[in-house]
Amino acid sequence: MKYAILVGDGMSDYFIDELSGRTPLQVARTPNMDRIAKEGLTGMARTVPRKMAASSDVANMSIFGYDPKEYYTGRGPLEAKSMGIELEPGQVAFRANLVTASDNILVDYSAGHISSKEAVVLIEFLNEKFKKRGVRFHSGVSYRNLMIVSEEQLSDGHGSLRCVPPHDIIGKTIMENMPKGKGAKFLRDIMTGSRFMLADHEINIIRVDLGENPANMVWLWGQGKKPSMPLFKERHGVEGAVISAVDLIKGMALCVGLKVIDVPGVTGYYDTDYAAKAEYALGALEKDDFVFVHVEAPDEAGHNGELGEKIRAIENFDEKVVGRVAEGLRSMGEYRLLVMPDHPTPIELKTHVDDPVPFAIAGTGIQPDAIDRFDEDSIGSGGTRTVAASELVNILFGGKQ
Ligand SMILES: [Zn+2]
Repeated sequence: MKYAILVGDGMSDYFIDELSGRTPLQVARTPNMDRIAKEGLTGMARTVPRKMAASSDVANMSIFGYDPKEYYTGRGPLEAKSMGIELEPGQVAFRANLVTASDNILVDYSAGHISSKEAVVLIEFLNEKFKKRGVRFHSGVSYRNLMIVSEEQLSDGHGSLRCVPPHDIIGKTIMENMPKGKGAKFLRDIMTGSRFMLADHEINIIRVDLGENPANMVWLWGQGKKPSMPLFKERHGVEGAVISAVDLIKGMALCVGLKVIDVPGVTGYYDTDYAAKAEYALGALEKDDFVFVHVEAPDEAGHNGELGEKIRAIENFDEKVVGRVAEGLRSMGEYRLLVMPDHPTPIELKTHVDDPVPFAIAGTGIQPDAIDRFDEDSIGSGGTRTVAASELVNILFGGKQ
């Protein structure tokens, strides 16, 4: 049997006035997802457990079949894994954004999407400056860097450590949003210290001259220790591969022993090469029995509040990824296919929410229900029971329904 999970990031949405009270999934032409809904089992799935943040890493962890309440430790360690950094026991990985601060206001979470070339120089500079503090910075891509520190360094303070993602506090005050709880003072010292050190760095002087946002502060958040997740193969008896442009999802795949396939032309944006993702997915299924394909574009359109782009991204996902992979699977004999978003990214809010999302599973031994369209209304409004998304793998890999 061959298995595939296809995720359109942030595809689901609210009912939108501009679409006469329909959702982008209802308006988009999606014959391939509709066919999976018609031939298969549908329902609503809760991808984000209550009281957890509606982040893509949490939501996708559920879809991989690991309950985030049990296994999620933070974003930092997943990114570390995808960067090839093995955390030791007792080490904590933080996301270390290069950001732009102006007086007491956080202006830009990405320092103008600073180039990796400039970021590498600044990160090495910070390593030199903070050598004595026992922390180590690692360069990632652009503003997305990491800091690793031993747990003992974070011994001061009381209560659990709380850090705020910088993209959530644009235009807000820095002081009020600094880390709080155990270890906060150590982190605040580094963050505040970085402002003094980075302000006069020649890279920032040039950026200011060019009218670009300087990377004049490091912002620490998303911390966690190495997660201990059982291997995917141990749970489901299959080897598999993951295709995604997003580091967090690649890191999670590596944590559970799945392969990561890098596809040329994949950007994580509207211009991604959808067809190449499908071709590589089918190639992976010749060797292994499972593939997970993640497409970021609908989520980006949601964050940008671009309705037309969101509908187009959904249609591209349906035609070039879902259609092509489903066609390939059918020609391989026995197969099962799960298609779903990870969370809604409503155009109206331009951010993720934790509402349940529609799913459809079709293939060998799956009994169809009465639903014949893939959208929030067709699947969600009939009083459908909402299941935990981390249970869906049990249907996908389980016995005949
Ligand atoms: Zn997402």
